[in-house]
Amino acid sequence: MNRKPGGQTIYLPGQEAHPACILIRNGRVIDPANGVDDLLNVGVENGVVNFIGKELPERFRPQEEINAEGMWVVPGLMDMHVHLREPGREDKETIETGTQAAAAGGFTAVACMPNTNPVLDEESKIRYVVQRGMYCPCRIFPIGSITKGLLGEELSPFGEMVRAGARAVSDDGKSVRKSNMMKNALNYSKSFRIPVICHCEDCDLSAGGHMNEGLVSTRLGLRGIPSIAEDIIVTRDIMLAEYTGARIHIAHVSTSGSLAAIRDAKKRGVNVTCETCPHYFTLCDTDIGDYDTNRKMNPPLSTPADRSQIVAALADGTIDVIASDHAPHVSEEKDVEFDAANFGVIGLETSLAVALTYLVDKDILMPADLVEKMSLNPNRILGLDGGTLSKGKRADITIIDPKTKWKVDSADFFSKSRNTPFEGFELKGCAHATILGGAIVYMRNTK
Ligand SMILES: [Zn+2]
Repeated sequence: MNRKPGGQTIYLPGQEAHPACILIRNGRVIDPANGVDDLLNVGVENGVVNFIGKELPERFRPQEEINAEGMWVVPGLMDMHVHLREPGREDKETIETGTQAAAAGGFTAVACMPNTNPVLDEESKIRYVVQRGMYCPCRIFPIGSITKGLLGEELSPFGEMVRAGARAVSDDGKSVRKSNMMKNALNYSKSFRIPVICHCEDCDLSAGGHMNEGLVSTRLGLRGIPSIAEDIIVTRDIMLAEYTGARIHIAHVSTSGSLAAIRDAKKRGVNVTCETCPHYFTLCDTDIGDYDTNRKMNPPLSTPADRSQIVAALADGTIDVIASDHAPHVSEEKDVEFDAANFGVIGLETSLAVALTYLVDKDILMPADLVEKMSLNPNRILGLDGGTLSKGKRADITIIDPKTKWKVDSADFFSKSRNTPFEGFELKGCAHATILGGAIVYMRNTK
C-alpha cells in the first residue's frame, strides 16, 4: 500500500487482500463500444465483469460496494504514450512509481516508449519491461524501437519484440531521418500487423531550437523551432504509409499544418490515426511567460491559432487519442536556464482532469467521446482487447468523479518527478477509483 497525506491510496496487486466480488452501485455507465450510457449497477467477480444492469442478480453477494452516485463508470483508461525511464534513469521515474502515477490518474494501461537506456530494441529488453510490470497497479504494453539504439541506421527485430509483448514500434524522441529507412520499417511492420508510431520532426529545421518559432520566441530571445519541422515529416510519413499500405499513428500532434495533412489523408483512406496531449489543447507559446521550463517540451507549445485548431480537431474526430507524453525529469534538468533545460513534462496525474475541465466541461467533447479517446481508441490502435465493459470481459474499470474541484500540487504526485505545466491549476473532475482485473488498485479520499 502507498498512501498520500491527501488521502489517495494505491493498493498493490498481488501484495494485499482484494475482495473478489465488488458492486459498483448507481453510476452512469459510459461504454461507447456497446452504445451504453445509462444509470446502471456493475458487478465484478473473479476479475471479470459479471453483470451490468438496473437490477442485481439474486445470487450476487458483494464483499465490497462502491457508491458511484454522481460518478461515471467507464472502461479502464489507457495512456498510449508515456516514458517510464526504466531501465536507465530510475532517478526520474521507475516502472513502479510510473504505474502508481498512472493508476492515480485513472489509467489501467499505459504503453511505454523505448527511449530508455538501454533502448528497448530487442526481445530481452521488451521482456524485462513486461516482467517488471507484472505486480504493478497498471498494465504496461511496451513499444519497441524502429531502429537499433534509435540510431536510424538498422531496423530492430520487430518479430521477436512483438513475440515478447511489444504492441507497436517507434523511435519516439527522434524522427527516423532517412525516408528509405522509414519506408522499410513500414513495409516490415505489415507482417506483424502493428502500427508504427511516428515522432514527426525535421531535425535540420528544429536543430538548436527551444520553443515555437514566432513572435514570442523573438521577444524572449530564444532560438525557435518552426511549425513546418513537424508538418513536413507528418506529410512525409503519411505519403510513405499511403505508398506502402502500412498503418501509422502520429504522436503528439501540435500544429494546424499537421492536422490539415492528417484530415486530408483520412479522407483519402490512408491508414493513419493520431494523438494530441493535454498541454497542446490548453496552453500555447505565450504561456512560457517568464521562461517557465515546465512549459518546455518537444514538439513545443504552438500559437493560440494552432491550439484552437487542435480543439476543433478533437471535436470533429480528426484526433483519435488523448495521450500524456508523460516525460519525467529531475529538478536539476529543469531548474536551469530555458535553453539548457530538458524537453518534456509529466502528465499521468493531470491528463484526465485537464481533459474533463477543458473539453468535457466546456461541451467540446461529450463524455462518451472522451472515453473513446482515452480508452477505446488507444486499445484498438494497439490491437488490444480492452476499452469496453462487456459482460465476461476483464474488469479494468475507471470510476470518474466529474464534479470535484481540486488544485494541482505536484507534491501530492505518485510520480517521482515534479515537472508539470499545470502546477496550481484549478481543475474539475478526477479519478475516484481505479479497478484493475477486478482489484481496486486506487482510491481517492480514503481515510
Ligand atoms: Zn515524441
